[in-house]
Amino acid sequence: MSGDFKDKCGVFAAWNVPEAAHVTYLGLFALQHRGQEGAGIVASNGGRFQGHRGEGLVYNVFSKATLANLPGDRAIGHVRYSTAGGSLAKNVQPLWVESSLSEVAIAHNGNLTNAVTIRHQLEKKGSVFQTLVDTEVILHLMAVAEGNAAAKLKTALSQVEGAYSLIVMTREANETKVFVVKDPYGFRPLALGRLDGGWVAASESCAFDLVGAEMVRELEPGEVVEFSGNEVKSWFLKEKAKPAPCVFEWIYFSRPDSLVFGESVYEMRKKLGEILAEQDKANGLKADMVIGVPDSGIPAAIGYSQASGIPFEMGLIRNHYIGRTFIEPLQSIRDFSVKIKQNPLRGSLVGKKVVVIDDSVVRGTTSKKINQFLRDAGVAEIHMRISAPPTISPCYYGIDTPQKKELIAANMTVNEIRDFMVADTLTYLNMDLITERLKPKTSMCDACFTGKYPIKPKDIV
Ligand code: AMP
Repeated sequence: MSGDFKDKCGVFAAWNVPEAAHVTYLGLFALQHRGQEGAGIVASNGGRFQGHRGEGLVYNVFSKATLANLPGDRAIGHVRYSTAGGSLAKNVQPLWVESSLSEVAIAHNGNLTNAVTIRHQLEKKGSVFQTLVDTEVILHLMAVAEGNAAAKLKTALSQVEGAYSLIVMTREANETKVFVVKDPYGFRPLALGRLDGGWVAASESCAFDLVGAEMVRELEPGEVVEFSGNEVKSWFLKEKAKPAPCVFEWIYFSRPDSLVFGESVYEMRKKLGEILAEQDKANGLKADMVIGVPDSGIPAAIGYSQASGIPFEMGLIRNHYIGRTFIEPLQSIRDFSVKIKQNPLRGSLVGKKVVVIDDSVVRGTTSKKINQFLRDAGVAEIHMRISAPPTISPCYYGIDTPQKKELIAANMTVNEIRDFMVADTLTYLNMDLITERLKPKTSMCDACFTGKYPIKPKDIV
């Protein structure tokens, strides 16, 4: 079941904003990198909710007609990423339940670490679940809790553990509310903005840029911002935990044009490249050019180039128009899955000593194939530089990493990995150095690099 419980997603909300569903649709576009498998919007004009959800990219899920069916000045939306498995359509968010008097819709980014445990307890008492998504336990816990919507949400969230940046829309009789919530550890990003006198919330600030909203601030760990009528309230779930924002949002996941955990993601990535360059300068490495593996390796490659004086070149060209499934010829093409995404710029690479930068290595297959293409294109030397530490442990808080046995750095030494990925040299960054140079305002979650988990996952035995 674990496959279905892994979601790294994007969420968006609009409150007191004309054409809220349309604005949410645009916001989801900007968050598309956070999930490509499904998208959905639930909207309200103050009365009953209307929703539309579907599999695929935002562009494919919504049309003029479907958006026209989502009237109102409040809406919440979600883009979904999940690993394969399970029937997909029913797992697309926002999840949405209604009874005769009330409705709740919920959009979640992150991963709950005790959802399976809670689900089994609830199922024993007779709850019937509709999806395989961890988020559904929050709906069931709210359904049996006492009090108004805020009290129900608070009671439900006091029982769940793990990572959740949530947007919840509720209706009780004719009162609609939207709650924007960050878990007490603050694992995943979530920010507030203003638009046309109303409010928006989004996983990343790049969504505000697209809709023309002004960023106000990021939520604090454990904070709930509650919108009702013209009132905006901020309150906290419980005593704050030791914050643990995810360092991998800076390294790979967030868009470089976003401001996440108080910092420009682009600047953070450039700094990581600078550290790699300083290490190589000290070792006297000589190279003709530095290239980044597009797109996520590019900012670190620029930082490396600026700090080392070695020219930055494109080196690899990425095809941006790839869907999830390809129709391959029967006689399959070697290394098709990486080839369809990346192609070396042959002419400029022949006989060159090249520093190749990627943001991370998971199984090692991408680096191996890319380096092989570079060798085939006539590159003389490959100095592989990774702008992150070795990934040695899976993430239980919403980034899709495979189990330890599939993580190359958990099973091989750096020299073995270098040989596997046909590089001449290989260097990773050290976590202490990252902390020293990026100077995060709080401690961060680096469990994928250190194996030290801020919350022990109950669902994993
Ligand atoms: P691998 O081929 O398994 O070593 O994957 C490494 C590549 O995947 C790198 O180019 C990363 O930019 C990218 N990557 C790293 N983490 C993830 C993730 N959680 N989901 C998707 N891609 C990732």
